[in-house]
Amino acid sequence: MFEGLTKNALYRVGIYIRLSKEDNDKVIESESITNQRNILLAYLKENKLALAGEYVDDGVSGTTFDRPAFNRLINDIEDGKVNMVVTKDLSRLGRDYIQSGYYVEQYFPMKRVRYVSILDNIDTERSNSSENDIAPFRSILNEMYAKDISKKIRIVFQQKKEDGQFLSTSAPLGYKKDPNDKHHLIIDNETAPLVRRMFKMIIDGYGTTQIANIFTDEHIPTPAMRNKYQTNALSYQYGYWHAASIRRMLRNNVYIGKLEQGKSQTISYKNRQRVRLPKEQWIVVENAHEPLIDEETFYTVQRLLDTSAKKTVKRTYLLTGLLKCADCGGSIGIAHSNKRNFSYTSCNLYRAYTKRHLCTPHTLNYEALELMIVEKVRELCKICMDNEKIEEALRKKIENNNYKSTLEKTLKEANEKKIRLEKNLERLYEDRLNDVITVEMYKSMSAKQNEGLLKLKNEIKSLEDKLSEFVKEEKEIFSFDYKEIINDFLKLKNPTKEIMSKIIDRIEIHEDKKVDIYYRIKAFEKLK
Ligand SMILES: [Zn+2]
Repeated sequence: MFEGLTKNALYRVGIYIRLSKEDNDKVIESESITNQRNILLAYLKENKLALAGEYVDDGVSGTTFDRPAFNRLINDIEDGKVNMVVTKDLSRLGRDYIQSGYYVEQYFPMKRVRYVSILDNIDTERSNSSENDIAPFRSILNEMYAKDISKKIRIVFQQKKEDGQFLSTSAPLGYKKDPNDKHHLIIDNETAPLVRRMFKMIIDGYGTTQIANIFTDEHIPTPAMRNKYQTNALSYQYGYWHAASIRRMLRNNVYIGKLEQGKSQTISYKNRQRVRLPKEQWIVVENAHEPLIDEETFYTVQRLLDTSAKKTVKRTYLLTGLLKCADCGGSIGIAHSNKRNFSYTSCNLYRAYTKRHLCTPHTLNYEALELMIVEKVRELCKICMDNEKIEEALRKKIENNNYKSTLEKTLKEANEKKIRLEKNLERLYEDRLNDVITVEMYKSMSAKQNEGLLKLKNEIKSLEDKLSEFVKEEKEIFSFDYKEIINDFLKLKNPTKEIMSKIIDRIEIHEDKKVDIYYRIKAFEKLK
């Protein structure tokens, strides 16, 4: 009895509670947080164990280990605050065999953490317990269960969608959720006129950008503002309508009573990332709700949008993604003018909200810019191809900017000054010993000297840091680990986007047409 007590006093127990979405949907009382907590606390009391912390993940799927409370538990284990973990059953820990197996069989033993699963009768401290052998097997069962549940939920949702039930969190503009049936859409008399107006404006010859500008000028709240969630921080903040989202709305079949759902799917019950499905796989239900736009108007608008889309041919550009606006920090896009048959750069922020003056055009002739950049890169590549040449060029560059020699000189002087100060202090001490100066004088003078010495020592330290960093950088420049990239570039007749992004970090364009190139290759940065 006594032995048991002292032994238990060694344990700092973290109880881990998890309520999964699956449990929630099925409303299993036995899995409720309160129930799990009661079982765990009863176990602790019975075994005279001290509670160090409670970790509750509420409504998070157990198929992923990205759970906030669980992460906290792991942190506390790492910090030594917890050395024993108790759960109601193994499936609380996770339903993925590989992951939960990792914790039970590797992580916990490695951290000398005792793990107890009450209902499974698993206790890693009782190493000879035959129940422990069942743990991996039970984990497999749990994983099968999660897979099965996930499949079942998917089928249920699929069925609901096929029945024409609206399952998104927010209704599309112009509609609202039926107060009597949250899975049914009804026309929202407040916003429906706005949608009708949008369609009419296209027929009247307005473009989506014009519509966006007019709506913004009229201070009409955007759907994001209405739903109080942020899609684009900037447009939300200012309430700017965006042409692309207006286009998306005009294309939405929801306005002729069609409900299109299941456009994307999570990859698996383990990987929650969503992928877009092909149109043939969407779940489409006709006449799911009252249409807002008559079909004739709707299809006329689709035709008008098609013809305006045809005019803009998709082009690819070598520098796409590398151009940045030096003034607003956003990206710079590349547009093509059919009329004048040339491509030009344009700040995306400026273009999206032209009349708002959030930024300026940043227009440059794209062809000329590309030519200039490729030439510049070619030139740098050629210099770097020649070992001697590059070393010479870099040396010169480095010597020219004098940075290193200035640093070294300052450091030398500081060290000399330090020696002088130390000598002074010694002399002062000797003077005091020989009664040349009084105690008071010694105190005040040595305090002053010491203060200066301390300051100097700090200065020396920072100079040394700077110098060692510079030397490190210099070494990197001469290491030539980028030779392969340069070789590849020079071999190509026309550089590819891939190689450009290996060489160039970003190209900043200023409104005054100044262009700054920032390279990924350190030597280029020094040579430019
Ligand atoms: Zn800009």
